[in-house]
Amino acid sequence: MKILLMALALFSTSTFAATWTHWVHLKAKDNKTRTQIANYIHIDQVIDDSVYAVVNEHDLKELQKNLGTILVEHHPYKEILPTADNAEFEFPRGDEKFHTYQEIVTEIKNLTRKYPNLTEELTIGNSLEGRSLIGIKISGASNPDGKYFIPGIAFLGAHHAREHLSVEVPIMLASYLLENYSKDPRIKTLIDTRVIYIVPMVNPDGAMYDIKGKKYKSWRKNRAANRNGSSGVDLNRNYSFGWGTGGSSTNPRSDVYMGPKPFSEPESLSVKQFVESNPNIRILLSYHTFSELILYPWGGKSDGVGGKDQKVFENMAQTMSKWNRYKPMQASGLYIASGDTCDWAYGSQNIFCFTFELSPKSMWSGGFYPGAKVIDKTFNANINPALYLIEKAGNPYGVLNN
Ligand SMILES: [Zn+2]
Repeated sequence: MKILLMALALFSTSTFAATWTHWVHLKAKDNKTRTQIANYIHIDQVIDDSVYAVVNEHDLKELQKNLGTILVEHHPYKEILPTADNAEFEFPRGDEKFHTYQEIVTEIKNLTRKYPNLTEELTIGNSLEGRSLIGIKISGASNPDGKYFIPGIAFLGAHHAREHLSVEVPIMLASYLLENYSKDPRIKTLIDTRVIYIVPMVNPDGAMYDIKGKKYKSWRKNRAANRNGSSGVDLNRNYSFGWGTGGSSTNPRSDVYMGPKPFSEPESLSVKQFVESNPNIRILLSYHTFSELILYPWGGKSDGVGGKDQKVFENMAQTMSKWNRYKPMQASGLYIASGDTCDWAYGSQNIFCFTFELSPKSMWSGGFYPGAKVIDKTFNANINPALYLIEKAGNPYGVLNN
């Protein structure tokens, strides 16, 4: 930690025609203070009475202006150099194993070609820049379109651009399920009795912008052109349930900008329409990075969901944590954040919805960019939780009888 701080201090803020991403450390002794911070930035990590985050220049200025008294330190972290318009969409050297958008499309097309009887290509909509929001539907049920009767589950990745590991886990899950259909009787049964929807890259414009020119940019949002000339809406603050009620910003330059209205963005709106048109979906898992957490509603308020459902959430989260060793908790346990996928899915659609904050555990073990070496390890740790949820989609309340 000390060494890292010294290394960061050696960076100089030379006046380049580029922008910087900053690393910040704030003092926040309680949930209330953390929520105050979350109105300006996305908190990446909470340790004791400190919070840490990677923020853009605008958000750093807002913190200095509004929360200067609790801002302990900040350091320029990564220089964001402009990239040419024709720069290619490819991961930086060493990280090529991560899937680009085109590779996701190819992979899904390959899987649907290889397993025509078990799969169907999905397009849930189009991104702002016109990329189709592609996914795969997996089912061995004899009539998977009798969708009201065959339990469904949805896995979503990459609401946030820079969280590339959140694309790998769901796309690898698709191949894993299909490759093991004829080898593993448990997987065969699951596929034959469920409809599994996987949309690995909800925010392809943002994800591809983040790697454009083979340089990471710590980009979080989509690529919406905002009214003040800035770019991007935080898709995971743009859902309608409890929209704009804390832990998100009305300022378009903010990394947690909620958007001009709920579902203002084609990406979040497409997820909404897709989920609504498949009412067989009973469980949803939205992958994010990082921190190694299993989160469940509410995110937008401190109360629990209460009743029987509360027990289902707690029970499932605890069971899954035995496999991946992630910490199970209510999403608002660290700070309030409103307008996310899971509050909407549960609050409006009665879906048991989880957010996984995948590896790594901390900013000091790689943060958003832990390298390709963690892909397999992270996927392996999350196979059992995924299979468990697919199974429980049959009857989520069944976990209470164990
Ligand atoms: Zn995220």
